[in-house]
Amino acid sequence: MCGIVGYIGGQQVNDILLTGLQRLEYRGYDSAGIAIVAEGQLKVHKQKGKVSDLVATLESNGQLQGTLGIGHTRWATHGFPNDENAHPHTNVTGSFALVHNGIIENYGALRQKLKQKGYTFKSETDTEALVHLIDDVQKATSLPLEEAVRQALTQVVGTYGIAVVSVEDPDLLIAARMGSPLILGVGEGEYFIASDAAPLVEHTRQVVYLNDGELVVLRRSGFEVRTIDNVKLEKQITELEWDLEEIEKSGYEHFMLKEIMEQPESLENCMRGRLRLEENCINLGGLIEVMDDLRAAERVIICACGTSWHAALVGEYLIEKFARIPVEVEYASEFRYRNPILREGDVVLVISQSGETADTLAAVREAKQQGILTLGVVNTVGSTIARETDAGVYLHAGPEIGVASTKAFTAQVLVLTMIALKLAENRTLTDAEMAEALRAVSQIPDKVRKLLELDKELCNIAHSYRFANNFLYLGRGFNFPVALEGALKLKEISYIHAEGYPAAEMKHGPIALIDRFMPVVFIAMKDRTYDKVVSNIEEVAARQGSVIAITDEGNGELDKLCEYVIRIPHTEEFLSPLLTVVPLQLLSYHVAVMRGCNVDQPRNLAKSVTVE
Ligand code: GLU
Repeated sequence: MCGIVGYIGGQQVNDILLTGLQRLEYRGYDSAGIAIVAEGQLKVHKQKGKVSDLVATLESNGQLQGTLGIGHTRWATHGFPNDENAHPHTNVTGSFALVHNGIIENYGALRQKLKQKGYTFKSETDTEALVHLIDDVQKATSLPLEEAVRQALTQVVGTYGIAVVSVEDPDLLIAARMGSPLILGVGEGEYFIASDAAPLVEHTRQVVYLNDGELVVLRRSGFEVRTIDNVKLEKQITELEWDLEEIEKSGYEHFMLKEIMEQPESLENCMRGRLRLEENCINLGGLIEVMDDLRAAERVIICACGTSWHAALVGEYLIEKFARIPVEVEYASEFRYRNPILREGDVVLVISQSGETADTLAAVREAKQQGILTLGVVNTVGSTIARETDAGVYLHAGPEIGVASTKAFTAQVLVLTMIALKLAENRTLTDAEMAEALRAVSQIPDKVRKLLELDKELCNIAHSYRFANNFLYLGRGFNFPVALEGALKLKEISYIHAEGYPAAEMKHGPIALIDRFMPVVFIAMKDRTYDKVVSNIEEVAARQGSVIAITDEGNGELDKLCEYVIRIPHTEEFLSPLLTVVPLQLLSYHVAVMRGCNVDQPRNLAKSVTVE
């Protein structure tokens, strides 16, 4: 959560910070602020609201001049989203300013101790305790600021990505991380700090990924990285893969719509070089070294959160079907705290779009600590989970900016499909079966392309249901997780209460909710469970529920039972989530837009959940 940006160099920093914050805004958007050092002054401006509000205020007040500064867009954890709690926070004399992403868990004790020493607090944030702690260390020791920051951080429990600037040294930017992401961008005589690559791509492609427990001191002449325990480190500069175009809206009204529409290409990119039709095999370079262990696994435990957890459920069905290895799916946030039983032969596979999800990262660490092989399915190259897992597969879906995940979900399901098929190679599938499966996978992007043409039809359906207060999503087998995902999409961006359920389970409870005001979305593909799902549709129709069904092209059987029938291209049962989810994404998108909701920045949510 929250976005941090910092700059030191020769350019005017005001615009660099504000554009950077705009690019990071999907990480948090309840308040924003910047601090700039220039002409012997530290100028801070921060306020409640979106980055655009901050930009408007600064435009009317006159830009802040200077070539060193930091900025923050907040996702509040401690204290209301108001002007006082917005970052940056300054020490009492206003000599330095700090921005923070994360949670200082021992802030209560620190606050009490610092109050006793005479410090007064202007905000309710945990962050301010760290600011005064640094100040206190500096006063007590007269050490340079970078050293005071380092020593203060040794007293902190919790997570942080921080950046600090001081009026006393206009050639100094300090940054450090523990549990919250931070990337250093390297330019010519200039450096950037950011929570992720989005603000960097237009300035530089040379980056250094900071690890937990590392602190970097940046000056215009160079940078030095140390551990919080004060051990000097040599860091490697790596090249960023992202393009600027990928992080802009390219004519679409919202990132979410752009990302839904990009799915044919993101799926093609995800399978490129991996799906080998001529050789009749799957090639997953990132798993080569661990493939023997994975094939020999007694059990695969998939840990994830949110939409990735839904992809994990599809993964469970896929791996069990093709590899015949038992799979368990866990919420990463639960897994870490319940002392999970892990045994030799277990493999822990985690899924995270950002590669920074705090709970998922903690699950990786828990598993590693117990000597278990960890694998990552991650979109963001170089992210912490990508670096900390033993092996993995990147999605190559391109940056996902919309808070509601769309193209990452389909790419996650595709990667899990490829992993499952890889595990089935020369084992559970004959050559002919493999060829058939690979051919079906290769056709998916074109089928998605075709079904995106239904956009208008979905827009019309959305219009009919835009005032609904509740929605039920039902599916079976591979499409049960899709029902969960459809409901989550609607909840996230339109604030309509929605529930996903296995269609057959409806009779055990949710059927009580059905009346003529309850729209029910059924995923009713012509597969093994089709007839049963049709019976479930009958049951809802008999109780006057308003049914929207997703089914195969050419299927006219449902018309008499349903208000709307959405017909999509046919595919193999195991691949259907890659298609059936797309109309649900579009439906929720259009409903949310019609209700006037901010689709890309839904209330209370942020994209990359880097706090627990
Ligand atoms: N815990 C800090 C706050 O509530 C930082 C939150 C964030 O990561 O945006 O201000």
